[in-house]
Amino acid sequence: MKAVAVFPAKHDVRVIDHPEPQLAAPNQAKMRMLEVGVCGTDREIISFEYGTPPDGYDYLILGHESLGEVVEVGPAVNKVKPGDLVVMTVRRPCPHPNCVACQEGRQDFCFTGDFTERGIKQQHGYMTEFVIEEERYINRVPRELRDVGVLVEPLTIAEKSLEQLWLIQQRLPWACPVEPGQSRAYCHRAVVLGAGPVGLLGAMALRLAGFDVSIYSLSPNHDEKNPIADAIGAHYIAAETHTPDDLARMAGPIDVVYEAVGASKVAFDVIERLGPNGIFIFTGVPGRKGTIEVDTNYIMKDVVLKNQVILGSVNAPPHSFENAIRDLALFVEKWPQAVRSLITGRFPIERALQPLANNAGGIKNIVEIAS
Ligand code: BGC
Repeated sequence: MKAVAVFPAKHDVRVIDHPEPQLAAPNQAKMRMLEVGVCGTDREIISFEYGTPPDGYDYLILGHESLGEVVEVGPAVNKVKPGDLVVMTVRRPCPHPNCVACQEGRQDFCFTGDFTERGIKQQHGYMTEFVIEEERYINRVPRELRDVGVLVEPLTIAEKSLEQLWLIQQRLPWACPVEPGQSRAYCHRAVVLGAGPVGLLGAMALRLAGFDVSIYSLSPNHDEKNPIADAIGAHYIAAETHTPDDLARMAGPIDVVYEAVGASKVAFDVIERLGPNGIFIFTGVPGRKGTIEVDTNYIMKDVVLKNQVILGSVNAPPHSFENAIRDLALFVEKWPQAVRSLITGRFPIERALQPLANNAGGIKNIVEIAS
């Protein structure tokens, strides 16, 4: 069967023929892959910045944003049946018995760093025709989400972050006063850095929770992104025309920053404008770029005198996948056109290298493997 594979030692990426996998344990299911999303992580892997093949292979099959259809299940599988639409999680636990996080199924908080990740680290990914997976890593997706289900994984980044946000902000009286008809976070102001898929999905999740949301992104006029911001009721503030001080004036006092841009300069400029008791959530991984200048004294002073929190968040547990599936259905109900317009390109597997290119453009491009 066809698969998109990266050969790190040979600095090569191409569509290869890979043996079709078969069920090997009673708790496994076999999926036909329908669609696989392409993201910045994949682009870094094909630039050979990271990405590790599984033991015994000189290549890694790419892809961790999945949407598949179950075609066969082992006798011990109860959660899904043939014909179900599914999304798989990404990270698998490390083998160490003393890693309490992995032992409890929270490999997103693995202590040892010896976790593996499908399509990223020592496990083949989903950019291929069939995959085998254990039931516990499979999440059922309703048929109604067939056209957007591939957005579940990038949405889990916001779901985990938001859960952490609510947990952490219990440190102070932060909950908005209860007002009939008002949503949970109506009294708080959030800034999203970046208007890529992770940023826009994060903005949708924050709007759904009731935050006043401003999206801070580079270019002022973006034909694909501006209408999405409008549809979800977020303010779109362009970095090319508005400085971080303008942002703080227009969007502040900033209670939450959801960073989804992977660029440390703008992130640290905005940290300096975080409001009292605010929380700054990093989700992006900056590429290997030069050093930047930061006023550490100013930041340290504010973090202390304003009780601020700086949080990093990576990967997501199974319940974040369930929350993402639930919320994606709510997004589709509220903003059907905006959600669908996040997917700007569909490419057959033979042309998978096109959306993987750095200049691919669009918002979320996907590789369409089967229909
Ligand atoms: C994926 C995460 C993964 C992270 C680091 C992201 O693109 O969405 O699941 O943990 O990369 O490898």
